Amino acid sequence: MATPRNRSASVEAEAGARRQGDSGVELALPSDTAAAAPLCPHGPTLLFVKVNRGKEETRRFYACSACRDRKDCNFFQWEDEKLSGARLAAREAHNQRCQPPLSRTQCVERYLRFIELPLSQRKFCRSCQQLLLPDDWGDHREHQMVGDVSVTQLRRPSQLLYPLENKKTNAQYLFADRTCQFLVDLLSALGFRRVLCVGTPRLHELIRLTEPGDKKPHIKSLLLDIDFRYSQFYMEDSFCYYNMFNHHFFDGKAALEVCRAFLQEDKGEGVILVTDPPFGGLVEPLANTFKKLIAMWKEGQSQDESHKELPIFWIFPYFFESRICQFFPSFCMLDYQVDYDNHALYKHGKKGRKQSPVRIFTNIPPNKIILPTEEGYRFCPLCQRYVSLENQHCEHCDSCTSKDGRKWNHCFLCKKCVKPSWIHCSICNHCAVPDHSCEGTKDGCFICGELDHKRSTCPNIGTSKKANNTLFFRAVRKQKQRKSNKMKMETTEGRSMNHTSVTGRKKRRERAHQYLCS
Ligand code: SAH
Ligand code: ZN
Ligand code: ZN
Ligand code: ZN
Ligand code: ZN
Repeated sequence: MATPRNRSASVEAEAGARRQGDSGVELALPSDTAAAAPLCPHGPTLLFVKVNRGKEETRRFYACSACRDRKDCNFFQWEDEKLSGARLAAREAHNQRCQPPLSRTQCVERYLRFIELPLSQRKFCRSCQQLLLPDDWGDHREHQMVGDVSVTQLRRPSQLLYPLENKKTNAQYLFADRTCQFLVDLLSALGFRRVLCVGTPRLHELIRLTEPGDKKPHIKSLLLDIDFRYSQFYMEDSFCYYNMFNHHFFDGKAALEVCRAFLQEDKGEGVILVTDPPFGGLVEPLANTFKKLIAMWKEGQSQDESHKELPIFWIFPYFFESRICQFFPSFCMLDYQVDYDNHALYKHGKKGRKQSPVRIFTNIPPNKIILPTEEGYRFCPLCQRYVSLENQHCEHCDSCTSKDGRKWNHCFLCKKCVKPSWIHCSICNHCAVPDHSCEGTKDGCFICGELDHKRSTCPNIGTSKKANNTLFFRAVRKQKQRKSNKMKMETTEGRSMNHTSVTGRKKRRERAHQYLCS
């Protein structure tokens, strides 16, 4: 039986690369002899490789794992570059300077003093995003302040703090109440007792606010996030200052041990990882990190449970499905549309309003996950999962095929369901938006030019220079052929899903950004 997943193998949204024109950047595998990665203020950097069309080997370099904008972190070093002692010392000093002014322990001490203060003395500086103790007041006299900070406010820091808006690095998109409540109820219904929240501060706080219900035990939560401001509101055992692109704990071994103990408690029983990473980030480093957390959880398991998987909810846009499943083949995508608070366009998907493209990817069997019927989800007995109201079961595909919540149509030539706006194109030999530019802008693999794979999975990778040259010319020839077939140049909405052209890819990225940043 065809599963929704293998049918969408062509739905390749993220190339694992940031490319422009004929060159781009991919994550590189460190060689066996690799020295430890140099450090930037955000922990160990990642090794990237610049890829050029038709050429295989290029110079590799280290860059920041967390910041996609050089304005946020301009770390750059060639892999084979040797730095002078003076430059290393300067870098070390720079890294130190970039760390938050208060240590984790100091934050906790301040918090404990803060909650002892009478209400009238509990002030929060909006300008500095900081809880103030009476000694600090003088320095913030001219700033915007909030007075009488109540316990209720302290327990909802995601409402007190403004969401970070830095689009490229850590834009924060907070769950709408309905989505957040749905997640908490779901985690509770599934019987979880501990939730490792990676980049989900609002979920973390709602879990902590939720009183245990009848027969339901209290759920514990540990937040890992790069937003240091949260250190002010949580003790060491409920927040770790963390970078999810390189699995770096800013507060060292002690914080790592907090995370380990949390995962391994009760022999690893009853814990789930829930993550909602920034969508502009690369999937591969995230997957590497989650694998490290999985390994940490596994260490605490007894031998006979070694086949078990750590339950995970990975919240991400639906067009990353094939990319995520490449790293986690047991994951499936739920139809539930995740809504955000500070994103006007994608609040609830009512008629006339755009629907959220963000979904939950999970290794929990989908038949165990009940989606709210009052929001229009229904159970499909054939697929054994809840689906969107308009997602109709296709008898030819034997599956509810829609990815975006609209009704998709079956194309007998493509032998699969496609978006409602698409029509079958006899030149491309598959369905596409009516005014697409045929195969013209499809560039294919950087090494051999074939369309069905990327450079990183090219069977010719690692072949000799000479063979490479042949491949290069073949790639150029193929591209020329395709270009001459092309009819129109413009790229329009809808291309995004089944085309992996550079422009399409760029557009997709922009759209993902637009979704998140408008
Ligand atoms: N919807 C979630 C928030 C998701 S926004 C909620 O409501 O709880 C993405 C989150 O990931 C933010 O909290 C942001 O601070 C965090 N983040 C961004 N980059 C990160 C990184 N490199 N490491 C860890 N957390 C990161
Ligand atoms: Zn950095
Ligand atoms: Zn201030
Ligand atoms: Zn179909
Ligand atoms: Zn078709």
